[in-house]
Amino acid sequence: MKNTSLLDRRNFVKLGTLAASAALLPNTGRAETAAITLPALPYKFDALEPHIDALTMEIHHDKHHAAYIKNLNAALATAPDLAKQPLDQLVADLPAVPDEALRNTLRNNGGGHWNHDFFWKTLAPAEMSGKPTTDLAAAIDSAFGSMDAFKKSFGEAATKRFGSGWAWLILQDGKLKITSTANQDNPTMKGIVPAADLGTPLLGLDVWEHAYYLHYQNRRPDYIAAWWNIVNWPAVVARFKA
Ligand code: MN
Repeated sequence: MKNTSLLDRRNFVKLGTLAASAALLPNTGRAETAAITLPALPYKFDALEPHIDALTMEIHHDKHHAAYIKNLNAALATAPDLAKQPLDQLVADLPAVPDEALRNTLRNNGGGHWNHDFFWKTLAPAEMSGKPTTDLAAAIDSAFGSMDAFKKSFGEAATKRFGSGWAWLILQDGKLKITSTANQDNPTMKGIVPAADLGTPLLGLDVWEHAYYLHYQNRRPDYIAAWWNIVNWPAVVARFKA
C-alpha cells in the first residue's frame, strides 16, 4: 500500500511539473490563454548606477519579477476564463474571483507583475530623468505646496510603510495624492485596498528589501533619496496627461 501511495505521489509530482511547463510554452494560436512572458527591461542592468546597482537590478528583474509571472501563469492555467482578461482588469476586480486561495495568489502575483512592470517604466538613467513639466509641476505645487514638500511627504510614506510594500503618487478624483500599499497591492485594486488609497498610479516606489538591500542594507531612506535621481519624469507626465 505504501509503495502504491509513493508511486502515485511521484506521478502526481511529474504531472504537476508537466502542467507548469505547458503553461510556459509559447503562444500556439490560442491568444486568450497564452502565458504571460517577462517583459525586457527598457535599459541595461547597470543603467541606473550608482543609485541602483546592476546586481540588484538583475536579481530584481530576472528572479523576483520572473517569479511573480511564473506563479501568475500557474494560477491562470487553472482558471481559463480569468486568463482571458487583461491583467489591468483582473487586478482591478479581484473580488470577482470567488475562490479565496486563487484570489490571494492573483493578488500577490498579478499585483507583483503589474507593480514591477509599472516600476521599470517609471525609472530611467539619471541623465534621462528629466523634470515634471509645467502642468504636473503646478499640480504638485497646488497639492503639496512645493516639489520639495512633495518629495518629503512621499519619502515619509515610503519610509513608514512597515515591512514590504510600495509608496505611490496617484490621481484620485482629479487630484494628486500620496498613498502606500502593503506587499504587492496597488491603488487600482478595488475592494482590496481602502477606498482612500484607490486611484490611478502615476509613480510608484518599491520598498521591499529585495529592491535595495544588497547596496543599501537597512538604509531605506538612503535608497529613497537616491531613487529621485532616476525617476522617469517624462513617463510620469505622460500618465498625468492621460
Ligand atoms: Mn520588487
